[in-house]
Amino acid sequence: MSTELLNISIEKTKSSKINELDWDNLPFGRVFSDHMFVMDYKDGQWENPTITPFADLTMSPATSILHYGQTFFEGMKATKSENGDILLFRPEENAKRFNLSAERMCMPEVPVEMFIEALRTLLNVDKDWVPAKEGFSLYIRPFMIAMDPYVGIRPSDTYKFIIFTCPVGAYYSEPVPVKIETKYSRAVEGGTGYAKAGGNYAGSLYPAMKGQKEGFRQLIWTDAKEHKYIEEAGTMNVLFVIDGKIITPASSDTILSGITRRSVVDIARDWGYEVEERKVSVEEVITAIKENRLTEAFGAGTAATIAQISAISFEGTTYELPAVEGREFSNKVLTYLTDYKHGKVEDKFNWIL
Ligand code: PMP
Repeated sequence: MSTELLNISIEKTKSSKINELDWDNLPFGRVFSDHMFVMDYKDGQWENPTITPFADLTMSPATSILHYGQTFFEGMKATKSENGDILLFRPEENAKRFNLSAERMCMPEVPVEMFIEALRTLLNVDKDWVPAKEGFSLYIRPFMIAMDPYVGIRPSDTYKFIIFTCPVGAYYSEPVPVKIETKYSRAVEGGTGYAKAGGNYAGSLYPAMKGQKEGFRQLIWTDAKEHKYIEEAGTMNVLFVIDGKIITPASSDTILSGITRRSVVDIARDWGYEVEERKVSVEEVITAIKENRLTEAFGAGTAATIAQISAISFEGTTYELPAVEGREFSNKVLTYLTDYKHGKVEDKFNWIL
Protein backbone atom coordinates (compact mmCIF):
# COMPACT_ATOMS: atom_id res chain seq x y z
CA MET A 1 0.00 0.00 0.00
CA SER A 2 2.48 2.60 -1.12
CA THR A 3 0.55 5.82 -1.39
CA GLU A 4 3.83 7.76 -1.67
CA LEU A 5 2.73 10.57 0.59
CA LEU A 6 6.27 11.45 1.41
CA ASN A 7 9.09 12.33 -0.86
CA ILE A 8 11.80 10.76 1.25
CA SER A 9 15.38 11.66 0.42
CA ILE A 10 17.71 8.73 1.03
CA GLU A 11 21.39 9.01 1.84
CA LYS A 12 22.93 5.57 2.25
CA THR A 13 25.89 4.81 4.47
CA LYS A 14 29.27 4.25 2.86
CA SER A 15 30.34 1.87 5.61
CA SER A 16 27.67 -0.63 6.59
CA LYS A 17 28.12 -2.19 10.03
CA ILE A 18 26.25 -5.34 9.15
CA ASN A 19 29.36 -7.49 8.84
CA GLU A 20 30.38 -6.56 12.39
CA LEU A 21 27.17 -8.09 13.73
CA ASP A 22 27.54 -11.07 16.04
CA TRP A 23 24.14 -12.67 15.57
CA ASP A 24 24.77 -15.11 18.43
CA ASN A 25 25.44 -12.34 20.94
CA LEU A 26 22.90 -9.62 20.39
CA PRO A 27 22.30 -7.53 23.50
CA PHE A 28 18.74 -6.10 23.43
CA GLY A 29 18.63 -2.47 22.32
CA ARG A 30 22.35 -1.76 22.04
CA VAL A 31 23.08 -2.60 18.40
CA PHE A 32 21.59 -0.25 15.81
CA SER A 33 20.94 -0.75 12.11
CA ASP A 34 22.72 1.36 9.50
CA HIS A 35 20.00 3.96 8.88
CA MET A 36 17.36 6.08 10.57
CA PHE A 37 14.34 8.04 9.38
CA VAL A 38 14.06 11.68 10.47
CA MET A 39 11.35 14.23 9.70
CA ASP A 40 10.97 17.79 11.04
CA TYR A 41 7.86 19.62 12.12
CA LYS A 42 7.93 23.37 11.50
CA ASP A 43 5.38 26.08 10.73
CA GLY A 44 2.52 23.65 11.37
CA GLN A 45 3.62 20.90 9.00
CA TRP A 46 5.92 17.93 8.53
CA GLU A 47 8.81 18.52 6.17
CA ASN A 48 12.18 17.23 5.13
CA PRO A 49 11.64 13.45 5.43
CA THR A 50 15.05 11.81 5.15
CA ILE A 51 16.73 8.47 5.63
CA THR A 52 20.35 8.96 6.64
CA PRO A 53 23.08 6.90 8.27
CA PHE A 54 22.35 6.28 11.98
CA ALA A 55 24.13 9.12 13.78
CA ASP A 56 24.11 11.30 16.90
CA LEU A 57 21.76 14.28 17.06
CA THR A 58 23.01 17.75 17.81
CA MET A 59 20.86 20.24 19.65
CA SER A 60 21.01 23.33 21.80
CA PRO A 61 21.30 22.68 25.56
CA ALA A 62 18.13 24.77 25.83
CA THR A 63 16.11 22.34 23.69
CA SER A 64 12.71 21.82 25.26
CA ILE A 65 12.84 18.00 25.32
CA LEU A 66 15.92 18.07 27.55
CA HIS A 67 14.07 19.98 30.28
CA TYR A 68 10.37 19.29 30.21
CA GLY A 69 10.18 15.81 28.71
CA GLN A 70 7.73 16.57 25.91
CA THR A 71 8.31 13.25 24.20
CA PHE A 72 6.74 9.85 23.56
CA PHE A 73 7.67 6.68 21.72
CA GLU A 74 6.46 3.40 20.28
CA GLY A 75 7.90 -0.11 20.28
CA MET A 76 7.21 -2.69 17.61
CA LYS A 77 8.91 -5.49 15.67
CA ALA A 78 9.51 -6.64 12.10
CA THR A 79 10.29 -10.23 11.18
CA LYS A 80 11.28 -12.03 8.00
CA SER A 81 9.20 -14.86 6.62
CA GLU A 82 10.79 -17.99 5.18
CA ASN A 83 10.52 -16.53 1.66
CA GLY A 84 12.24 -13.29 2.69
CA ASP A 85 9.23 -10.97 3.03
CA ILE A 86 9.44 -8.34 5.77
CA LEU A 87 6.42 -8.80 8.05
CA LEU A 88 4.95 -6.21 10.41
CA PHE A 89 2.52 -7.21 13.16
CA ARG A 90 -0.46 -4.81 13.42
CA PRO A 91 1.63 -1.69 12.64
CA GLU A 92 -1.46 0.49 12.18
CA GLU A 93 -2.25 -0.14 15.86
CA ASN A 94 1.15 1.28 16.82
CA ALA A 95 0.58 4.24 14.51
CA LYS A 96 -2.81 4.92 16.10
CA ARG A 97 -1.39 4.67 19.61
CA PHE A 98 1.47 6.96 18.49
CA ASN A 99 -1.13 9.60 17.67
CA LEU A 100 -3.01 9.04 20.90
CA SER A 101 0.24 9.76 22.73
CA ALA A 102 0.86 12.79 20.47
CA GLU A 103 -2.52 14.28 21.37
CA ARG A 104 -1.99 13.79 25.11
CA MET A 105 1.48 15.34 24.94
CA CYS A 106 0.27 18.31 22.91
CA MET A 107 2.37 17.24 19.94
CA PRO A 108 1.55 16.94 16.22
CA GLU A 109 0.10 13.74 14.79
CA VAL A 110 1.73 11.74 12.02
CA PRO A 111 -0.99 10.42 9.68
CA VAL A 112 -1.12 6.60 9.84
CA GLU A 113 -0.28 6.19 6.11
CA MET A 114 2.71 8.50 6.50
CA PHE A 115 3.93 6.58 9.55
CA ILE A 116 3.68 3.26 7.69
CA GLU A 117 5.35 4.65 4.56
CA ALA A 118 8.28 6.05 6.56
CA LEU A 119 8.66 2.72 8.33
CA ARG A 120 8.38 0.60 5.15
CA THR A 121 10.93 2.73 3.32
CA LEU A 122 13.39 2.50 6.23
CA LEU A 123 12.91 -1.28 6.45
CA ASN A 124 13.54 -1.64 2.71
CA VAL A 125 16.79 0.32 2.99
CA ASP A 126 17.87 -1.81 5.96
CA LYS A 127 16.28 -5.08 4.83
CA ASP A 128 19.46 -7.06 5.52
CA TRP A 129 19.10 -6.07 9.17
CA VAL A 130 15.75 -7.85 9.52
CA PRO A 131 16.85 -11.22 10.85
CA ALA A 132 15.67 -14.38 9.12
CA LYS A 133 16.87 -16.52 12.04
CA GLU A 134 14.31 -18.45 14.07
CA GLY A 135 12.86 -16.28 16.83
CA PHE A 136 14.93 -13.20 15.91
CA SER A 137 13.39 -9.89 14.91
CA LEU A 138 14.09 -6.24 14.25
CA TYR A 139 12.94 -4.03 17.10
CA ILE A 140 11.59 -0.68 15.84
CA ARG A 141 11.66 2.51 17.87
CA PRO A 142 9.61 5.42 16.49
CA PHE A 143 9.58 8.53 18.71
CA MET A 144 9.02 12.27 18.75
CA ILE A 145 10.86 15.05 20.60
CA ALA A 146 10.19 18.75 21.23
CA MET A 147 12.92 20.77 19.55
CA ASP A 148 12.39 24.45 20.40
CA PRO A 149 15.55 25.98 21.95
CA TYR A 150 13.48 27.82 24.53
CA VAL A 151 13.49 27.81 28.32
CA GLY A 152 9.83 28.17 29.15
CA ILE A 153 6.97 25.76 29.66
CA ARG A 154 4.70 25.68 26.67
CA PRO A 155 4.22 23.25 23.78
CA SER A 156 7.14 23.44 21.38
CA ASP A 157 6.59 24.80 17.85
CA THR A 158 9.14 22.43 16.33
CA TYR A 159 9.55 18.66 16.63
CA LYS A 160 11.50 15.75 15.24
CA PHE A 161 9.93 12.39 14.38
CA ILE A 162 12.59 9.70 14.23
CA ILE A 163 12.58 5.94 13.63
CA PHE A 164 15.59 3.73 14.23
CA THR A 165 15.83 -0.03 14.54
CA CYS A 166 17.80 -2.70 16.43
CA PRO A 167 18.16 -6.38 15.50
CA VAL A 168 17.29 -8.48 18.56
CA GLY A 169 17.62 -12.13 19.46
CA ALA A 170 14.99 -14.54 20.63
CA TYR A 171 13.87 -12.84 23.81
CA TYR A 172 13.36 -15.53 26.39
CA SER A 173 12.14 -14.11 29.60
CA GLU A 174 12.53 -16.50 32.49
CA PRO A 175 9.64 -16.63 34.97
CA VAL A 176 9.89 -13.65 37.32
CA PRO A 177 8.83 -13.03 40.91
CA VAL A 178 6.81 -9.83 41.20
CA LYS A 179 5.66 -7.59 44.03
CA ILE A 180 2.29 -5.90 44.20
CA GLU A 181 3.21 -2.24 44.70
CA THR A 182 1.04 -0.51 47.27
CA LYS A 183 2.94 2.74 47.86
CA TYR A 184 4.13 4.13 44.51
CA SER A 185 2.07 4.57 41.34
CA ARG A 186 2.85 4.44 37.64
CA ALA A 187 -0.21 6.38 36.52
CA VAL A 188 -3.11 8.37 37.92
CA GLU A 189 -6.60 9.05 36.62
CA GLY A 190 -6.42 12.09 34.37
CA GLY A 191 -2.68 11.56 33.93
CA THR A 192 -0.60 10.21 31.06
CA GLY A 193 -0.64 6.45 31.80
CA TYR A 194 -2.40 5.54 28.55
CA ALA A 195 0.26 7.34 26.50
CA LYS A 196 3.80 6.15 25.91
CA ALA A 197 5.16 9.38 27.37
CA GLY A 198 8.84 9.29 28.33
CA GLY A 199 8.11 10.65 31.81
CA ASN A 200 5.95 7.65 32.70
CA TYR A 201 9.01 5.45 32.39
CA ALA A 202 11.35 7.84 34.21
CA GLY A 203 8.92 7.97 37.13
CA SER A 204 8.72 4.19 37.38
CA LEU A 205 12.49 3.71 37.78
CA TYR A 206 12.69 4.54 41.49
CA PRO A 207 9.93 2.19 42.71
CA ALA A 208 11.23 -0.53 40.34
CA MET A 209 14.75 -0.14 41.76
CA LYS A 210 13.39 -0.40 45.33
CA GLY A 211 11.49 -3.55 44.35
CA GLN A 212 14.61 -5.05 42.80
CA LYS A 213 16.56 -4.43 46.00
CA GLU A 214 13.94 -6.54 47.77
CA GLY A 215 14.41 -9.30 45.17
CA PHE A 216 11.47 -8.62 42.87
CA ARG A 217 12.20 -8.38 39.18
CA GLN A 218 9.01 -6.51 38.37
CA LEU A 219 6.28 -4.57 40.10
CA ILE A 220 2.60 -5.10 39.67
CA TRP A 221 1.20 -1.59 39.56
CA THR A 222 -2.08 -0.88 41.31
CA ASP A 223 -4.49 2.06 41.13
CA ALA A 224 -3.10 5.26 42.63
CA LYS A 225 -6.12 6.04 44.82
CA GLU A 226 -6.55 2.91 46.93
CA HIS A 227 -3.94 0.44 45.64
CA LYS A 228 -6.74 -2.11 45.50
CA TYR A 229 -6.95 -2.82 41.78
CA ILE A 230 -4.28 -4.37 39.57
CA GLU A 231 -3.21 -2.35 36.54
CA GLU A 232 -0.04 -3.58 34.81
CA ALA A 233 3.10 -5.67 35.40
CA GLY A 234 6.25 -3.60 34.88
CA THR A 235 6.04 -2.36 31.30
CA MET A 236 3.62 -5.08 30.25
CA ASN A 237 -0.08 -5.68 30.56
CA VAL A 238 -1.06 -8.48 32.90
CA LEU A 239 -3.38 -11.47 32.53
CA PHE A 240 -4.46 -14.24 34.90
CA VAL A 241 -6.17 -17.58 34.41
CA ILE A 242 -8.60 -18.09 37.28
CA ASP A 243 -11.17 -20.91 37.33
CA GLY A 244 -10.24 -21.59 33.69
CA LYS A 245 -11.22 -18.03 32.65
CA ILE A 246 -8.83 -15.41 31.31
CA ILE A 247 -9.06 -12.30 33.46
CA THR A 248 -7.27 -9.04 32.66
CA PRO A 249 -7.59 -5.39 33.70
CA ALA A 250 -9.47 -3.50 30.97
CA SER A 251 -7.70 -0.62 29.25
CA SER A 252 -8.34 2.75 30.92
CA ASP A 253 -6.61 6.10 31.16
CA THR A 254 -4.17 4.62 33.67
CA ILE A 255 -3.36 1.50 31.64
CA LEU A 256 -1.50 1.40 28.33
CA SER A 257 -3.61 -0.33 25.71
CA GLY A 258 -1.10 -3.01 24.74
CA ILE A 259 -1.33 -4.58 21.30
CA THR A 260 -0.04 -7.91 22.61
CA ARG A 261 -2.72 -8.05 25.32
CA ARG A 262 -5.46 -7.22 22.84
CA SER A 263 -4.16 -9.92 20.48
CA VAL A 264 -4.01 -12.52 23.28
CA VAL A 265 -7.60 -11.68 24.22
CA ASP A 266 -8.80 -12.04 20.61
CA ILE A 267 -6.99 -15.35 20.21
CA ALA A 268 -8.35 -16.65 23.54
CA ARG A 269 -11.92 -15.84 22.51
CA ASP A 270 -11.33 -17.44 19.11
CA TRP A 271 -10.13 -20.60 20.90
CA GLY A 272 -13.31 -20.64 22.95
CA TYR A 273 -11.95 -19.38 26.26
CA GLU A 274 -14.08 -17.13 28.38
CA VAL A 275 -12.34 -13.75 28.77
CA GLU A 276 -13.19 -11.03 31.27
CA GLU A 277 -11.76 -7.55 30.71
CA ARG A 278 -12.67 -5.55 33.79
CA LYS A 279 -11.35 -4.24 37.08
CA VAL A 280 -9.30 -6.95 38.81
CA SER A 281 -8.81 -6.52 42.54
CA VAL A 282 -5.69 -7.55 44.44
CA GLU A 283 -7.94 -9.40 46.87
CA GLU A 284 -9.52 -11.46 44.10
CA VAL A 285 -6.11 -12.57 42.82
CA ILE A 286 -4.67 -13.36 46.27
CA THR A 287 -7.80 -15.29 47.27
CA ALA A 288 -7.68 -17.28 44.01
CA ILE A 289 -4.00 -18.16 44.66
CA LYS A 290 -4.81 -19.30 48.21
CA GLU A 291 -7.69 -21.44 46.98
CA ASN A 292 -5.59 -22.94 44.15
CA ARG A 293 -7.95 -21.49 41.56
CA LEU A 294 -5.30 -19.33 39.89
CA THR A 295 -3.43 -21.49 37.38
CA GLU A 296 -1.54 -18.92 35.30
CA ALA A 297 -0.25 -15.33 35.62
CA PHE A 298 1.77 -13.57 32.94
CA GLY A 299 2.72 -10.25 31.39
CA ALA A 300 2.06 -9.47 27.72
CA GLY A 301 4.09 -7.02 25.63
CA THR A 302 6.04 -6.62 22.39
CA ALA A 303 9.52 -7.32 23.81
CA ALA A 304 8.90 -10.79 25.27
CA THR A 305 5.36 -11.45 23.93
CA ILE A 306 4.59 -13.47 27.10
CA ALA A 307 6.55 -13.18 30.37
CA GLN A 308 5.59 -15.75 32.97
CA ILE A 309 5.17 -14.68 36.61
CA SER A 310 6.60 -17.26 39.01
CA ALA A 311 5.53 -15.75 42.33
CA ILE A 312 3.49 -12.82 43.61
CA SER A 313 4.32 -10.98 46.80
CA PHE A 314 1.75 -8.92 48.65
CA GLU A 315 2.19 -7.13 51.98
CA GLY A 316 5.27 -9.18 52.87
CA THR A 317 3.92 -12.63 51.96
CA THR A 318 5.18 -14.36 48.81
CA TYR A 319 2.86 -16.75 47.04
CA GLU A 320 4.49 -19.25 44.68
CA LEU A 321 2.44 -19.89 41.55
CA PRO A 322 1.91 -23.19 39.70
CA ALA A 323 4.85 -24.46 37.60
CA VAL A 324 5.21 -22.81 34.19
CA GLU A 325 5.33 -26.16 32.31
CA GLY A 326 1.74 -26.86 33.27
CA ARG A 327 0.39 -23.50 32.10
CA GLU A 328 -1.64 -24.60 29.13
CA PHE A 329 -3.03 -21.32 27.80
CA SER A 330 -0.01 -18.99 28.05
CA ASN A 331 2.42 -21.57 26.62
CA LYS A 332 0.08 -22.27 23.73
CA VAL A 333 -0.57 -18.59 22.99
CA LEU A 334 3.17 -17.79 23.10
CA THR A 335 3.93 -20.43 20.46
CA TYR A 336 0.98 -19.37 18.33
CA LEU A 337 1.79 -15.63 18.45
CA THR A 338 5.49 -16.26 17.72
CA ASP A 339 4.57 -18.39 14.69
CA TYR A 340 1.98 -15.80 13.66
CA LYS A 341 4.52 -12.97 13.68
CA HIS A 342 6.90 -15.05 11.54
CA GLY A 343 4.21 -15.88 8.99
CA LYS A 344 4.14 -19.56 9.92
CA VAL A 345 0.41 -19.80 10.55
CA GLU A 346 -2.52 -18.49 8.55
CA ASP A 347 -3.14 -14.74 9.02
CA LYS A 348 -6.73 -15.34 10.06
CA PHE A 349 -7.13 -12.03 11.95
CA ASN A 350 -5.57 -9.96 9.18
CA TRP A 351 -2.81 -8.74 11.48
CA ILE A 352 0.22 -8.99 9.19
CA LEU A 353 1.20 -6.16 6.87
N1 PMP B 1 2.27 -1.38 29.24
C1 PMP B 1 3.30 -0.52 29.16
C2 PMP B 1 3.46 0.51 30.22
C3 PMP B 1 4.21 -0.62 28.09
O1 PMP B 1 5.25 0.22 28.00
C4 PMP B 1 4.02 -1.64 27.12
C5 PMP B 1 5.00 -1.79 25.99
N2 PMP B 1 4.64 -0.97 24.89
C6 PMP B 1 2.91 -2.50 27.24
C7 PMP B 1 2.07 -2.33 28.32
C8 PMP B 1 2.64 -3.56 26.23
O2 PMP B 1 2.23 -3.00 25.01
P1 PMP B 1 2.47 -3.74 23.63
O3 PMP B 1 1.86 -5.09 23.75
O4 PMP B 1 1.78 -2.91 22.63
O5 PMP B 1 3.94 -3.82 23.43
